[in-house]
Amino acid sequence: MKKKIIVTGGAGYIGSHTCVELIASNYEPIIIDNFYNSKHFIIDRIEEITGFRPDILDTNCLNYEQLRLKISSYNNINGIIHFAAYKAVGESTQKPLKYYQNNIGSTINMLKILEDFKFSSFIFSSSCTVYGQPKQLPVTEESPILLAESPYGRTKQICEDVISDYSKANSTLKAVSLRYFNPIGAHPSSLIGELPLGAPNNLVPFITQTAAGIRKELSIFGHDYSTSDGTCIRDYIHVVDLARAHVAALKFSEAKKNGLFEIFNLGSGQGNSVLEVVQAFEEICEEKLNYKFSPRRPGDVVEVYANVEKAKNEMGWETKLSLKDALKDAWNWELALRKNLITNE
Ligand code: UDP
Repeated sequence: MKKKIIVTGGAGYIGSHTCVELIASNYEPIIIDNFYNSKHFIIDRIEEITGFRPDILDTNCLNYEQLRLKISSYNNINGIIHFAAYKAVGESTQKPLKYYQNNIGSTINMLKILEDFKFSSFIFSSSCTVYGQPKQLPVTEESPILLAESPYGRTKQICEDVISDYSKANSTLKAVSLRYFNPIGAHPSSLIGELPLGAPNNLVPFITQTAAGIRKELSIFGHDYSTSDGTCIRDYIHVVDLARAHVAALKFSEAKKNGLFEIFNLGSGQGNSVLEVVQAFEEICEEKLNYKFSPRRPGDVVEVYANVEKAKNEMGWETKLSLKDALKDAWNWELALRKNLITNE
């Protein structure tokens, strides 16, 4: 019998790619999603790629009673992968209560559900934002947790603390927190990918929308930083590699007899500047991108990239896809969206 896994936010960007990888690894995802920042057609696309249509529980993770009721009709659920969260860094500074209530409240509810139904594995979507402006690079899982640059980042820190405290009180909990660096790209089929709400805040969707003519030009935020070319450095990871890491984390937790709370960095291990990403993209789409240099974006981390040895050594996971693979897939996804006139404005 297939193992069932609850995937909150399973219709979202990373969630949908993870559902595809779970199905390929013989798991049966059950998606909980209220479609706040995702579209129903993504479920059709998951089915088109995998041949399997996951069940959808259209529920807000803050609605504990409804969650309980809906989940109680299933047997053999093994664990929870919890993606569902608000993620717009800028908005979180304007509406911090919205972010604290939703991101922390839903994590607590999912842990309560886990306890109620005696599931064991809990995989949490965390972020390298917990490292703030790191003093030493690359960052390891032992690097200090510094002041978060936004309420969004702080919700990730607080949720990790909640899980850590809870794991000390519950010896059967097998929890893994995955600290994502910068997920980019799309499924190579171009059937699923990122659907930014309105003008993208993130670099790669802004690049692909500019190349597609939807945005006039990319603003590169700051080019006077103390980096090789003056622009900020990030660790970009293909979303399919990231999705595979969730399957690896699930298997890692299932293989352990005792309770645990482990943290893993998920990145490529390599830093690339904004200009390097732009140049790599220009090579892929064989056109010049319209861009200009603009003032620094407040709160931006200057340079961050991961040490990914722990994930490799303990989960047997490492990236297989390159920055260029990710940019190519992101571009093909953008072209597919335009062809099908899909927007998320
Ligand atoms: N960036 C940029 N222009 C944009 C969006 C992002 O120059 O329109 C830069 C941003 O300042 C940062 C890098 O691209 O240096 C990655 O930004 P993103 O928002 O994608 O990720 P994060 O900052 O959250 O790591």
